[in-house]
Amino acid sequence: MKTFDVPVNYRSPLISAIKKQRKEADRMKKDFTPTLLDFGPLRVYLARHFGFCYGVENAIDIAFRTVAENPGKRIFLLSEMIHNPQVNADLLAAGVRFLQDTKGNSIVSFDDLTADDVVLIPAFGTTLAIEQRLAGIGIRTELYNTTCPFVEKVWNRSEGIAQKGYSIVIHGKPRHEETRATFSHAAKDAPSVVVEDMEQTIELAKYITGEKDAPYFYEEFKGQYSEGFDVARDLQRIGVVNQTTMLASDTQAIADYLKSVMVKKYGLTEADTRERFADTRDTLCYATNDNQTAVTGMLGVNADLAIVVGGYNSSNTSHLVELCEEALPTYFINEEAKLLSKNTILHYNFHTGLELVTEGYLPTTEPATVLLTSGASCPDALVEGVIRRLLSFYPGSKSIEEVAALFQ
Ligand code: SF4
Repeated sequence: MKTFDVPVNYRSPLISAIKKQRKEADRMKKDFTPTLLDFGPLRVYLARHFGFCYGVENAIDIAFRTVAENPGKRIFLLSEMIHNPQVNADLLAAGVRFLQDTKGNSIVSFDDLTADDVVLIPAFGTTLAIEQRLAGIGIRTELYNTTCPFVEKVWNRSEGIAQKGYSIVIHGKPRHEETRATFSHAAKDAPSVVVEDMEQTIELAKYITGEKDAPYFYEEFKGQYSEGFDVARDLQRIGVVNQTTMLASDTQAIADYLKSVMVKKYGLTEADTRERFADTRDTLCYATNDNQTAVTGMLGVNADLAIVVGGYNSSNTSHLVELCEEALPTYFINEEAKLLSKNTILHYNFHTGLELVTEGYLPTTEPATVLLTSGASCPDALVEGVIRRLLSFYPGSKSIEEVAALFQ
């Protein structure tokens, strides 16, 4: 796989050595067991896969190169390039400015832009309307486009099924940048509708079966369907694609459910199901798959708690948290400073959108066993920082350097 030029301060020598050793021992990525870092009174199990994915490294590489190649120019990011506060703060410090916040609200007006400005498209991609608007100003976004190829793959897949006459159901968070971008690209080719979760999918299915009257659809799915969507006509042949960072099992369950609804409604057999339901199994991103499967592998270890590191608005990170929460006490943090002490942690509840303090998060007995992973936009240096902070609570532990030596 292509390698990227990523600032060295995002790397961790310890984690790079572990990843290298695991990769060499398991080139086909069949082994999803975690890596044990045994410090004595503290045992840390690192997930087999975590941290920067292809798309994030690509975006960081392009963004910092853009800054270096354009001295004196105004450089804007359409919105957060990736959902990591440290990376975005570093870009701001390098003089890059945001045009929009993550919800699409304006920070700098497009009217203030000129053809001399540079605008970076984020890894999630953007809508056709924004691309056209920037092109109209004379800004050549293709020069500084960090859209991940795995997001583009979903767009291509949508285009493919649209050409075969299917409408497109997008499983994603309706306000997430990537889903808005994918929706925009899908809607150019076919009637499209976004479903956020299984609950919404079940409601959508009621319009397929006729359990619900068409007019209610337009209120219930307001803002989530393409212009001119005809609920009676456009749900007769469908295919499902997803925001690449959704929970893989959720997307699969949604696709399976809609397929079963179509089979029942039209009395389909195995041989003719494709007439009504497009096969789109491969639109999940490799990193999402790897990181989620690695969490499942990590959860096979008997541990006291899990810590997941990443940006609080990061979709892929919140899904890793969701998986861990089902098995053991889980703490979602965005930096090591959130480990306030051996007894107290400040962590994020993504269900409520609030940070909260929990006392007694580490066990009173030793060794303490901690499962550790991070999202696809989280620098490995942050994960190493979390390990170092945990170690500071266990005097007498082996040092990071001693344990790192085992992976050289
Ligand atoms: S999570 Fe997947 S789709 Fe998103 S940027 Fe990373 S590689 Fe690309």
